[in-house]
Amino acid sequence: MEKKAQLYEGKAKKVYATDDENLLIVSYKDDATAFNGQKRGTIEGKGVINNKMSNILMALLEENKIPTHFVKELSDRETLVKKVKIVPLEVIVRNVSAGSFSKKYGVEEGIVFDEPTIEFSYKNDELGDPLLNDYHALALKLVTKDELETIKKYAFRINEILKKVWSLCKITLVDFKLEFGKLSDGRIVLADEISPDTCRLWDSESGKKLDKDRFRRDLGGTEDAYCEVMARLMQNIKSAQEIKF
Ligand code: ADP
Ligand code: UDP
Repeated sequence: MEKKAQLYEGKAKKVYATDDENLLIVSYKDDATAFNGQKRGTIEGKGVINNKMSNILMALLEENKIPTHFVKELSDRETLVKKVKIVPLEVIVRNVSAGSFSKKYGVEEGIVFDEPTIEFSYKNDELGDPLLNDYHALALKLVTKDELETIKKYAFRINEILKKVWSLCKITLVDFKLEFGKLSDGRIVLADEISPDTCRLWDSESGKKLDKDRFRRDLGGTEDAYCEVMARLMQNIKSAQEIKF
């Protein structure tokens, strides 16, 4: 597959065209940003880990009937994906209170919910990714009703699968952000990435944060935390592949 023009450079990845108009190459960087780009830095080796972890998890989701953009890992940092039109919603699923949820509602971090929650924000950096509900998403014509239902169904199903995978790794899946996209035939698939950049992952026993919050909150040991989650995933992925979800 030939890599052609760079189409986009984001905060964490670059996106390239290929000689197939339906396929793109994404290239994962070590750059890290937080607070809508106000905090910037580098997490050494992050791109390699996020690339591999996303691919392993998306392949597992595919096996469990969740359509994704994943096609083929090309190298340490590069992956071939199906080109989609990104649905401009950040879809956030939570199992435990943390981050903006705790801040907004004035509750401590670590409260385990009886049922997972879902929320959406409008993917728009200029506006600071404002929170919106289903009706707002429909009013703004960001999605159709059917698409929204599909996205919610997939998001909760993904949560069920990922919760089990991470629990095998002795990690609590606290919350995570997903992005979905539309293929040229209109089908909705999971796109973007699943990694410690986009998930909160806490050690199940100690509660130690093993995700991007180490960078956001200057806790130190960010690189080690990313390596630790990756190592635990590699140790447990075979068992995860055998689970009937
Ligand atoms: P950001 O744009 O938020 O800075 P990234 O640095 O991760 O994020 O850039 C990757 C961009 O590629 C994102 O805007 C994401 O929505 C988009 N993207 C992810 N997967 C696909 C795909 N399969 N097809 C088209 N665009 C995609
Ligand atoms: N998240 C993300 N990208 C964003 C915003 C959030 O990947 O632009 C992830 C974040 O890593 C966490 C979850 O979504 O796992 C929920 O984030 P939250 O709303 O608590 O916001 P934060 O406190 O991280 O700003």
